[in-house]
Amino acid sequence: MCGVLGFVANEAVNQILYDGLQMLQHRGQDAAGIVTLTGNRFHMHKGKGMVREVFRTRNMRELVGNAGIAHVRYPTAGNAGSSAESQPFYVSSPFGIVLAHNGNLTNTEELYDSVYKTYLRHVNTQSDSEVLLNVFAHELRQQVTQSPTPHQLSVASIFQAVTELHKRVRGAYGVVAMIAGYGMLAFRDPNGIRPLVLGKRENADGTVDYAVASENIAFTCVDGFEIVRDLDAGEAVFITLDGQFFSQHCAENAKLSPCLFEFVYFARPDSVVDGISIYQARANMGITLAEKVKQHINLDDIDVVMTIPDSSRPSAMELAKHLNKPYREGLIKNRYIGRTFIMPGQATRKKSVRQKLSPIPSEFAGKNVLLVDDSIVRGTTSREIVDMVRAAGAKKVFFASAAPEVRYPNVYGIDMPTREELIANGRSPSQIAQEINADLCIFQDLSDLENVIRELNPKIQGFDSSCFSGCYITGDVDEDYLNELSASKKRILAEKYHPTLINHNVSINDNEDAA
Ligand code: AMP
Repeated sequence: MCGVLGFVANEAVNQILYDGLQMLQHRGQDAAGIVTLTGNRFHMHKGKGMVREVFRTRNMRELVGNAGIAHVRYPTAGNAGSSAESQPFYVSSPFGIVLAHNGNLTNTEELYDSVYKTYLRHVNTQSDSEVLLNVFAHELRQQVTQSPTPHQLSVASIFQAVTELHKRVRGAYGVVAMIAGYGMLAFRDPNGIRPLVLGKRENADGTVDYAVASENIAFTCVDGFEIVRDLDAGEAVFITLDGQFFSQHCAENAKLSPCLFEFVYFARPDSVVDGISIYQARANMGITLAEKVKQHINLDDIDVVMTIPDSSRPSAMELAKHLNKPYREGLIKNRYIGRTFIMPGQATRKKSVRQKLSPIPSEFAGKNVLLVDDSIVRGTTSREIVDMVRAAGAKKVFFASAAPEVRYPNVYGIDMPTREELIANGRSPSQIAQEINADLCIFQDLSDLENVIRELNPKIQGFDSSCFSGCYITGDVDEDYLNELSASKKRILAEKYHPTLINHNVSINDNEDAA
């Protein structure tokens, strides 16, 4: 998962890009980058680390200009450890283009082959985003060389290049880019899997500043900016350096099908994605989950409902209200925990969960507790928490997940373990309960989750529900693809750690910033 952001303003954008990027930090903690533009000249600074670690005052001073794009990275494809893969990426031809991408392409190899062998373009990293940039650069070049005035780029050519790109590229992509001397481009894949939202600020002198971001919170945190609307699936917008705004639908058969996991876990609760308040969506998930709880647990058996902080809090609170049960905060999250320099392995995971969360024993002693989490993925966190809660004195421990069982890998930009590592793969809820040592495990039904989201925005035409349903909407992900994905994740791990660790059922999702 990554976050992207861009501004075209009537003032310097370096500080607002930095501020906005910090609001997207939850979408990626691995690397960060900013590129600004003055006329024909890009100014770039990027590197590995959190936003506050990557940018120093001296870097910020050099990021001059009234237009810029930015990126935070959470590695889901390519070489997870490489600083060369920090974004935005740059190509010099045509015109000079920089690009930042949220999502994951599913036909990268095929695209890479064309880029390398047919277009004779060099890709310097293993990143699908650099391939995407080169496909766009190629298509833009095709457009301008066909034009009678190749040195003068028209907005029509830019949108035609995006149209051609949509025909070739498969997968999920929310993109912001800048073309030197011209302006900022943003586009969303034909399924609208990853979010992209447009904002603006009207200045006292009548001028308008524009913003595009993965989540609105990245610009609504900046004084005066407000949401205009989400980009449609397959839509592109272009804002010239003097503030003219253009938009066009560039994909045939576009169908807005956002990723359900954004609503469940990834997006911030104070964001509005595809017209839906994430907070409201999570609260409503709590109501439908409460109905499911009623069907499976004798309510007299539940003394108290608790969240596993933080993403599930709105669901847990609403669930408790709906069941007419007390809601208490028995697990406290340490917000100041540094990186645990995680190494794969059970002992480290245990330590990591216990450093991050600690129980208030008096809240558990002698009680039957219903714990609510946003999702159960590998199940290691849940198991640790259940053990911790039992050690703190809980009698019965029920576990409810606001998301359905995660049974399939996500190939559209959310880092998920391989299929074999997913606890719900091949297991029933009662078997999962056994695995995590809970008395009972309850999962949201997929149809309930979809209905919750659709009720909040009836314009949504479908969903990327792949990690719950195994249905991959881009139509190009099959058994072979998933097997190869599994194998390549294992290869990456083998390179990163020690080959023998792979036998210990380790996943690259073993991220210390999870939960
Ligand atoms: P586990 O079941 O141990 O894999 O942990 C699941 C918890 O990690 C969930 O409750 C989420 O809070 C969080 N989570 C879910 N998906 C991800 C992800 N792709 N990356 C990081 N954390 C995640």
